[in-house]
Amino acid sequence: MQTGCIFDIKRFAIHDGPGIRTTVFFKGCPLSCRWCHNPEGINANDEIIYRENRCIHCDDCISVCSLQAITNRDGGKIINTEICDLCGKCVDICPSTALEFVGTNMTVSEVMGEIEKDTAFFDESGGGVTFSGGDPLLQFDFLRKILEQCRERKIHTTLDLSGYCPYESLENIQNLVTLFLFDLKVYDEEIHRQYTGVSNRLILSNLKKITKNENHVIVRIPVIPGVNDTEKEIDNISRYLSSLSNLREVHLLRHHNLGVSKYEQLSMPKFKIECFPEGKSDLKRIRTEMEKHGFTIKIGG
Ligand code: SF4
Ligand code: SF4
Repeated sequence: MQTGCIFDIKRFAIHDGPGIRTTVFFKGCPLSCRWCHNPEGINANDEIIYRENRCIHCDDCISVCSLQAITNRDGGKIINTEICDLCGKCVDICPSTALEFVGTNMTVSEVMGEIEKDTAFFDESGGGVTFSGGDPLLQFDFLRKILEQCRERKIHTTLDLSGYCPYESLENIQNLVTLFLFDLKVYDEEIHRQYTGVSNRLILSNLKKITKNENHVIVRIPVIPGVNDTEKEIDNISRYLSSLSNLREVHLLRHHNLGVSKYEQLSMPKFKIECFPEGKSDLKRIRTEMEKHGFTIKIGG
């Protein structure tokens, strides 16, 4: 039976599409944005999270690890992910759930079971289910099967995506997705590569194609101080978006640093998280600039 890796399911979400929504978070993302506030969604593989606030410092985890992969550091624990074989003994022995695996392998019917618990709220509010992550398209076959079942049950579906995927994948599922929330980070290719780890040419090309086909697409821009809030970037993004067919709505997402602590919890030194100053970007100025290009701009999403 096919399974997919889900790292969270949030109910009563109101920012990921219309109405009241259930948001299903898929594990694995092709980008590693330095401002990512869901770093547990980046790695497609299993990993262990350590929450220091739950730890009672019994050191049972250190004793049980035959590979000496978990050690003390700065008053907490750190796992050497180069050595750890994810045997799970430390997770099992931990008396306070300070150590836990991130992500659960679920079948399509298990995910549908979770979604269908909330259909009364969807019907009442015009809501539905949102697939987010990570990037759900990294688990394409699994996602498609869930989308098919949502279509059969007439559940509104929103797909939050990075756009970094073969266009054929988007083409294949476009008739099953009611709303695309398409993330656009940076227009300048080098800046995009520097802050996300990949070129944006495929993303820009996919966005152009997907908006041609009468799909309902909203572009979401996480506004990152000093990265994409400059006059030049906003102008370039606006001009590019103006060239697309059928794009009417853009959401500007305010940056926050709430995910920073998770990087340590996940022992993720290889990902270069950065703290960007919160509240520094003038979102109202950016909204005014972008409105000149004829878009409906919403702050928040
Ligand atoms: S999961 Fe990793 S850190 Fe934990 S006991 Fe096994 S090898 Fe050691
Ligand atoms: S077993 Fe759990 S509670 Fe004990 S030191 Fe390790 S992480 Fe902390």
